[in-house]
Amino acid sequence: MIREPLIFEISDEGKRAFFLPELDVPSKKNILNGVPTREKIEGFPQVSEVEIVRHFTRLSQTNYCIDLGFYPLGSCTMKYNPKINEKIATIEGFIFSHPFAPQDSVQGNLEILKTTEEFMAEITGMEAFSLQPSAGAQGESVGMMLIRACLEERGDPRKTVLMPDSAHGTNPSSAHICGYRVQEIKSNEQGTVDVNDFARTMTEDVAALMITNPNTLGVFEADIKKIAEIVHSKGGFVYMDGANMNALLGICRPGDMDVDVIHLNLHKTFSTPHGGGGPGSGPVGVKRELEPYLPVPVIERGENQYYLNFDRPKTIGRVRSHYGNFLVVLKALAYILSLGPKGLRKVSEIAVLNSNYIRKNLEKEYHLEYKAPTLHECVFSDKFQKKHGVGNIDIAKRLIDFGLHPPTMSFPLIVHGALMIEPTETESKRDLDLFVDAMKQISREAKENPEVLKSAPHSTYLRRLDETTAARNPILKWNKEIEE
Ligand SMILES: *Cc1c(COP(=O)(O)O)cnc(C)c1O
Repeated sequence: MIREPLIFEISDEGKRAFFLPELDVPSKKNILNGVPTREKIEGFPQVSEVEIVRHFTRLSQTNYCIDLGFYPLGSCTMKYNPKINEKIATIEGFIFSHPFAPQDSVQGNLEILKTTEEFMAEITGMEAFSLQPSAGAQGESVGMMLIRACLEERGDPRKTVLMPDSAHGTNPSSAHICGYRVQEIKSNEQGTVDVNDFARTMTEDVAALMITNPNTLGVFEADIKKIAEIVHSKGGFVYMDGANMNALLGICRPGDMDVDVIHLNLHKTFSTPHGGGGPGSGPVGVKRELEPYLPVPVIERGENQYYLNFDRPKTIGRVRSHYGNFLVVLKALAYILSLGPKGLRKVSEIAVLNSNYIRKNLEKEYHLEYKAPTLHECVFSDKFQKKHGVGNIDIAKRLIDFGLHPPTMSFPLIVHGALMIEPTETESKRDLDLFVDAMKQISREAKENPEVLKSAPHSTYLRRLDETTAARNPILKWNKEIEE
C-alpha cells in the first residue's frame, strides 16, 4: 500500500505542471483589470504534472467508489449511475449555458426542466413540482414551509408535527426549523404506524404528519390511506418523505395514497451521483391546494415559449439561486427517458427482489428485530453476534477487508445495533453472493475468532480509528505516530 504524502510535502520550489516557450508577442499584464491578484501564494504546492496526476490517482485508489463495488447503505439508495447520464450532462450546450442567460435563449433548458417536473408528477401522482431544493433535507423544509404558509392563510399555522420514531433525522430538523414542535409516534410490532393509536394522537393542533413510505425499516405503510384520511379529517397535511421511492417506481403512487407533499432525492432514486459526487437535488411535489405557495420562480408554458414566473402572490419566496441544480436534473431526466415506464417499474421490482434475496440468505445468521415483509431494504441487528462480544461496528469494519462498503449502521434508532442493507437493483446475483458470503463468514468469525473482527479492518491504509478523535482532532499529515 502506498502511503501518499500530502501534496504540500512533495512540493519543490520552482516546479510547474508545464513550461511554455517564450512568448513571441508582447505579454499583457493585469488582464483582470484591477481585480486584486497575488504574485505569490504562500505555501502553494509546486509540483510537476505527473506528480499531480499520480498524487490524485493514488488518493482515488484508497477510496471506495460505486464503479468499484457494491454499497449496501440502507435508506440512501446508492445505486450505480449509468454513464449515459454523465455523457448527456457534459454536452457543451448544457454545461456552458449561463444561469443569467436571457430566457428566450435557453428555451431548450426550460423545456427540460418543465418536462422533468411533469415526469416527476406522473411518477408520484402529484400535481405540481418544484425542482429547486438542493437535497432531500431542503425539500423537506420547503415542504414544511408550504404547509405552514397554507395553514397561516387559513388563520392558524398550528403547533405540532407528528412523525414515527423510525423517521430519518432530517425530518424532525425540518419541522423544527419551520417552527414546529415535533411529536414522535411509537411504531407498532410490525414497525409501522398503528392506525388506532394514531387516531388518538392526531388533533387539530397538528399541522402535518411526516411519514416515510416504505419506512426506514423497508416496511410498506399499508394503512397510509386510512392514516391520511385521519390527518385530513383534522385539517392537517400528509408529508411523505420520498427517499425510499426506489421501492415504488411504476408500482404505486404517493399521490394516490392521498399524500399532499413529497420530496424526491434525485441522487438516490434517479441515479444522479451521491455523496462526494454531488451536488444533490430534492424536488418537491404537491397537490393543487399547495401549488400557489411553491417557491419562485415557477416554470410556465406560455403561448409560444417557456418562461420563469416570479409573479406569484402566495409564494414562500426564493429557496435557492436560479432554478435548482440544472445538470443534476438533466441526469435524472436522462435516466427516466433511458428506462421508460416499464424500465422504471423494473428498477423497483429488482430492487425489492435483491433486498429480499439478501434478507432470506442472511436471516439465520443475523437477527431481524422486525419480522414484517420488507421491500427494497432490510434491517438486521448484531444481537446474535453480541453474545460473542462483537458489535455492528466490528461487522461493518470487517466488511472492508472483503472489498465491500459497510452498510448503514445504528439507524433506524428503533433497532438496537442496526445493520441496514439496501442492495438496489443494479447489483448482479454474483455481487449479491459476494456480500452474502462475506456476511456469513463474518458471522462464523464472530463465534470462532472474534478478535479478527474487533481489530478490523486489516487491509486498509489506516486501521481502526478512534472515531470521535478522528472526527474532532483529525491528523491529516502522515507521521510515525500513526504508523505505530
Ligand atoms: C437520505 C434521506 C433523507 C435526506 O435526504 P438528503 O438528500 O440526504 O438531504 C431524508 N429521509 C430519508 C428517509 C433519507 O433516506
